[in-house]
Amino acid sequence: MGNAWVVPGRDCGDCMVCCIVPTIDDPDIQKKPGMHCRHCETGCKIYESRPKPCRDFYCAWRMLPALGPDWRPDLSGVFGVLDKAVIEGKTVVALTLTLNGDPAKIISNGAFVSFIHTNILENLHIFLALPGPPGHLPLRTLISGPGAVTLARRGEAHVRLLLEKAVMFLKSQPPRPYELRHGGNETSEWAETRSISA
Ligand code: SF4
Ligand code: SF4
Repeated sequence: MGNAWVVPGRDCGDCMVCCIVPTIDDPDIQKKPGMHCRHCETGCKIYESRPKPCRDFYCAWRMLPALGPDWRPDLSGVFGVLDKAVIEGKTVVALTLTLNGDPAKIISNGAFVSFIHTNILENLHIFLALPGPPGHLPLRTLISGPGAVTLARRGEAHVRLLLEKAVMFLKSQPPRPYELRHGGNETSEWAETRSISA
């Protein structure tokens, strides 16, 4: 995503969540999920010459005006990424929200529930994700779609229950270690999708 998508006046400040939480697996820079980049200290040691994947990356907080100042990833514990995903055989743009803070606290936050409620009704594709142990892929599950819209129409309390169910499901799933690929220009696989059975 280029600068045209960035919310004017919003900057990363002291946040370095995208240098720690996601997988970066590019010929120019690699790190496993949940592990600090080797260039990461109090800030990026090579900021002026940081590689292209770092220059090009903006988390969802940098691009979505609806996420206010409190939702900066290091402050909120919510790391959002807008990226392509395949859902029911179609490639779509989806928002993956990785809860790198305390999941119970985040999903009991009224503003977070309200954001999810609004965007389910807007038919945004949304995944909820939990990080694995360092070096393991986060796990994510889809929390939007027709069934979620029906629930959301009943009110935010039902969306909160949906979030609780998703967190319980993700916690029950075994994480998978990530092996760096080191080659090519493919987009890194940085979360694994699991489906909640009906
Ligand atoms: S996670 Fe977002 S706010 Fe934080 S450093 Fe990365 S792009 Fe900036
Ligand atoms: S090179 Fe710098 S900006 Fe890129 S992940 Fe490492 S610390 Fe972050």
